[in-house]
Amino acid sequence: MICDNIKKLNNELYFADVKVTDLAKKYGTPLYIMDENKIRQKVNAYKNALKKYFGYDALTLYASKACSFKYIYKIMSEENIGIDIVSSGELYTAKAAGFNLANAYFHSNNKTDFDIKYGIENKVGYFVADNIEEINLIDEECKRLNTVQKVLLRVTPGIDTHTYEADKTGKVDSKFGTAIETGQAIEMVGNILKLNNIELCGFHCHVGSQVFEEDVYERTAVIMIKFFADVKEKYGFEAKIFDIGGGLGVRYIDNDKTLDIDKKIKELSECIKSECAKYKLSIPSFRMEPGRSIVADAGMTLYTVGSIKIIPGYKNYVSIDGGMTDNPRYALYRADYTCYTANKMDEISDFEADLVGRCCESGDIIKPKAIFPKSIKRDDIIAVATTGAYNYSMASNYNRIPRPAIVMIKDGKDFEVVKRESFENLIENDI
Ligand SMILES: *Cc1c(COP(=O)(O)O)cnc(C)c1O
Repeated sequence: MICDNIKKLNNELYFADVKVTDLAKKYGTPLYIMDENKIRQKVNAYKNALKKYFGYDALTLYASKACSFKYIYKIMSEENIGIDIVSSGELYTAKAAGFNLANAYFHSNNKTDFDIKYGIENKVGYFVADNIEEINLIDEECKRLNTVQKVLLRVTPGIDTHTYEADKTGKVDSKFGTAIETGQAIEMVGNILKLNNIELCGFHCHVGSQVFEEDVYERTAVIMIKFFADVKEKYGFEAKIFDIGGGLGVRYIDNDKTLDIDKKIKELSECIKSECAKYKLSIPSFRMEPGRSIVADAGMTLYTVGSIKIIPGYKNYVSIDGGMTDNPRYALYRADYTCYTANKMDEISDFEADLVGRCCESGDIIKPKAIFPKSIKRDDIIAVATTGAYNYSMASNYNRIPRPAIVMIKDGKDFEVVKRESFENLIENDI
């Protein structure tokens, strides 16, 4: 099985110790199911490792764009970690969940005037500022409100992570952040330090997502700590916080590795400590912003099989009652998944077919060349694993298909945390 919370017993698939066909019957399909214990286990893997290797002032920030709804912010609040938000909508959701916004870090490469105002008014702890235009707007707004805003500056270290093009964010020519290599970042620091209503607390970078490459974070840290040192030398300013972003990869298919979070953070801490020693810098307070690696394998999507099409000499199709509306990741960047026929786990799978959705798009594919039991037929239940990240948060109403519910499983008990959208919801804003 692709993750340790997935098991099979008597021909049936279990997720977080619950028989998934029971959930399909009880709540209908398509359905997102999530394993709360797994989410907390992953949060704690980060929390413990950061504490162990960086000390008590280190902080994990959940990158909530990976999966954002009220209940998940409650979990992060109970776990006492911070959150990374990228829009006023995420801020609003976290606030509605009672999350303490002092522990929120507001990202985005293009914060609107509204975002800036809304964030400051709601006393968001930090803005992770992308460019000087934005910093000046924050400064002006703070002047008006007579406050000072804590800010991290997002810089691009010029690192290529060798993942999908869409997942690379740390290259010099990225739309995110301000480049170190061109000298723009250090010049900007000088300008920020002159502003009265901005408290520059440190530097942020984020090099990509679904990162497996051994030394990406170390190479990033070397460039970033040198930047901390250059800033200190040029301005006498020693930044307090180093936020290295998120991006650790997760296992979607058998060929993917399982990353050891503790080991990664240990190696990274050793690198940062030795680089800081080299430049006689004190070790900054460390932040990491995992999104995918906290929620991806805590999620699974259940579908019901509909029509099956066999085109002799060409290919076959197994169609399901969801698709790119609840999981656009194959359509977006050819993401791969592991899928199971949840009610036929003991049967031999040797029927190859594309697992496709019900949307009016040929690209509406969940997994090409998937393997099913020969007996696959209408009403069988398909489970697609590792869908906790960037599925619900990227879902759409294309073809006016309502978004599925999310059911949480905690200690063997299941309960709805997001209701299934209704047809009424679909026309709610239509005038
Ligand atoms: C997307 C993003 C993350 C989280 O990335 P994952 O791959 O989900 O861990 C963290 N920080 C920033 C700035 C991001 O844009």
